[in-house]
Amino acid sequence: MKDKKTKVAWEDVAVLKGFFRQHGWRYFPGIIFLIAQASMDVIPARLLGDAVDLMREDVIDTHAVLMKLIYMVVIAAAIFITRTIWRSFLNGNARRMEMWLRKTLFSHLQRMDMGFFNFQKTGDLMAYAINDVNAIRQTFGPAFALASRSLFVGIFSVLQMTTGIDWRLAVLCLLPIPLLLVLITKLGRVTRTRFKKVQEAFAAVSDRVQENISGIRVIKAYAQENAEVERFETLNETMRDTNVSMVKASSAMSPMVTFIFGISFTVCLIYGSHLVRTGQITLGDFVAFNGYLTLIIGPVQAVARVTNVLQRGLASLKRFSDVLHAEPAIIDPKVNKHEGELTGQVELRDLSFTYPVGKHPEVRPALHNVSFNLPAGKTLGVLGHTGSGKSTIASMLLKMYNPPVGTVFYDGVDIHDISLDTLRNGIGYVPQDNFLFSATIEENISFYSGATHEEVVQAAKLADIYDSVMEFPEGFATQVGERGVTLSGGQKQRISIARALVKKPKLLILDDSLSAVDAKTEQTIWGNLRPLFESGTSGVIIAHRVSALMHCDEIIVLEKGYVVERGTHEQLMALDGLYAATAKKQESGEADAHE
Ligand code: ADP
Ligand code: MG
Repeated sequence: MKDKKTKVAWEDVAVLKGFFRQHGWRYFPGIIFLIAQASMDVIPARLLGDAVDLMREDVIDTHAVLMKLIYMVVIAAAIFITRTIWRSFLNGNARRMEMWLRKTLFSHLQRMDMGFFNFQKTGDLMAYAINDVNAIRQTFGPAFALASRSLFVGIFSVLQMTTGIDWRLAVLCLLPIPLLLVLITKLGRVTRTRFKKVQEAFAAVSDRVQENISGIRVIKAYAQENAEVERFETLNETMRDTNVSMVKASSAMSPMVTFIFGISFTVCLIYGSHLVRTGQITLGDFVAFNGYLTLIIGPVQAVARVTNVLQRGLASLKRFSDVLHAEPAIIDPKVNKHEGELTGQVELRDLSFTYPVGKHPEVRPALHNVSFNLPAGKTLGVLGHTGSGKSTIASMLLKMYNPPVGTVFYDGVDIHDISLDTLRNGIGYVPQDNFLFSATIEENISFYSGATHEEVVQAAKLADIYDSVMEFPEGFATQVGERGVTLSGGQKQRISIARALVKKPKLLILDDSLSAVDAKTEQTIWGNLRPLFESGTSGVIIAHRVSALMHCDEIIVLEKGYVVERGTHEQLMALDGLYAATAKKQESGEADAHE
């Protein structure tokens, strides 16, 4: 991720420990069958040589020749069978590994905190899940199989050449091969650095695509389509260039291999034919030798491919393990864990908070010495301009980020001593962006809470969305498009409110959740929520509109992270400060109410 070093340490490989413990055994039968195949791979060359020798006899023994042919067919069949078996073990296991990696990454990402996602680009995370996982699979599946097979075929062939035919011929012919191996490894290194650039270019492109799709409204509204296309074109060109430069390096391999093996075959022809003429080896030996030499081309070429895939795979594994080793900053308390249900009472004591510093250090605190005490069953209003720190208060109450120890207390217990489950089960939160999933309205409201249909209906009524839902063709079973594009902002807000209410929370946090509904709906929802608050639920109502929080038991006014005013609606109006000014301004023009 951050550091550009690609050196792979043991701890990176250790990421796969869980997988190997569960599925690693499959490698053993896989290898056994693979070795069996490799040992048979070298037989046909010998049989061919023997057949040639038989046919050079004065009286051709047709029966013996026929037997050789039958033997060849049997071997071919056996090779086919063993290959199918080891492939299913090794490559099948690689697919399992792929699944396991994605699952591990996904559940890890679910555990990560908001701070992590602030600094991670979606495109990068997508690349981990797709490209890197794929590269790792190839390393531990096809590349591993290719490497082992090449190794054994190579060993068996060389053994046959040296011990079975003539070691001098073997040494002479194999002499250029080590040089080839060195060249191939060098070239592999170049390919690897270039592949990294390809990866980065891919991340940039997918980032751009993702951003454009999410922001398509803005792009269209500002008529930036062409500019965006042009910008994309540049990225796309970078991607092409990096790809071409990688392909250039990797495509130099094949001609190199052909050239150096050309030398080997020439040596074999010159010295081998001399050995045949002088009667030191038979013509059949010579034919078999050529067969072995041909067999070795594959394995040597494979070194190139294997190192390529291996290096990609290890680089991917490194990136992957970096992400997995990133620890979530928000964790469950280990000691003093408080698991009793929340009552809804919450207190902030002198809370100052600065967002964790990322690439663009934001040193200014978002909150300065904020204090309030919200008794169970009461409501707190938080008014302030955009950027004044309202949503940050919600994030603190939900422990989306870590507030300093000793600043946030539920029922007198520090938030850091409360289990995350207790905390989040007790709180109903309606975020500012009203995110809806691509699912039905019912699913969006019940959201895995296990709520019954009746409870969903009741929550929908409280949120004043029931009538609208019933007007949809399929009622609660209506699908919400990706990001809920078929619904108006106000409808989305009310569905989000219903989602929070269905949990029957002890504390309800509405982050500017009534901003997109009209004044009448706003008051209807307030009327609906009143019994809820009277029955003991407490509420934190964040708004930039006075009408949305004037009924709260206490209201704090935030400016630049400071609490500048506090009191009831009447007290604040009498104070005639920022609150009163805002109220007057908003009253005078309904247009202003919508900012
Ligand atoms: P409000 O909800 O009142 O509009 P916020 O609580 O969202 O204000 O933001 C308060 C301040 O904190 C702003 O200066 C904003 O730029 C900063 N801020 C908000 N979210 C983040 C974040 N995730 N990372 C860094 N700074 C943030
Ligand atoms: Mg906000």
